Amino acid sequence: MAPYAGPLGHPRLEIMLQQTRVAAVLPYYQRFLARYPFPLDFATASESDMLASWAGLGYYSRARNLQSAARSIANETAYPRDYDAIRDLSGVGPYTAAAIASIAFGQAHAAVDGNVLRVLARVTADKADLRAGPTRARLAEAAQTLLDKHRPGDFNQALMELGAIVCLPRNPRCSTCPIAKYCEARALGLENQLPVKSSPPRPTTSRALCWSFSETTRYCCGASPPIAAVSQAFGNCPKRNTSPARAP
Ligand code: SF4
Repeated sequence: MAPYAGPLGHPRLEIMLQQTRVAAVLPYYQRFLARYPFPLDFATASESDMLASWAGLGYYSRARNLQSAARSIANETAYPRDYDAIRDLSGVGPYTAAAIASIAFGQAHAAVDGNVLRVLARVTADKADLRAGPTRARLAEAAQTLLDKHRPGDFNQALMELGAIVCLPRNPRCSTCPIAKYCEARALGLENQLPVKSSPPRPTTSRALCWSFSETTRYCCGASPPIAAVSQAFGNCPKRNTSPARAP
């Protein structure tokens, strides 16, 4: 199988970019390309080696998901190229799948992240709550309608870039915006009022009671759902009452 060159590097790059700025990702991306140039290299790397290469980038579940995806890919004769097959890879959501499918393989899928939602809410002067599911679905549909079907990758990247450097969350730079003449929020003088966003839900506090355990007793708490995510980070605990039979 070919190395992760050109478009085939996108799955890795897109997953690294989740929740992380480009500038922070680039050195890690280059290091990964040098250390694991082929999918098989990455798929067969030990988890500890792979996590050591990832150390400092954070959100380690992404690294595990990426390796799981590499293992799926290594078992195939060809890279997944269409949206649904890419979406099936571990750690790949709708946005990442659309970004990979459009940028790497020229498929007509709009990649809709927070920046793109903000731009579209302003361009269409949508005054509904941006946190509401129907609003997001409506704007995602608008993105798919507007998408340049001949150059979907370029279109998606242009919209992402517009949201990142021109149509900023505060004080959008409308005077230099290349699509200002199409923007309804700008025409209505609402660029600083849109998008409307309700307050985020208040964080909840979880409490957990943990037992200590050792090789000889091997007791572990059964965690409630929110805490289960924490226990997963430390590995799967053996269930309660798994202590070995003691010698009489
Ligand atoms: S004109 Fe202003 S509000 Fe409208 S898309 Fe451009 S930067 Fe955003």
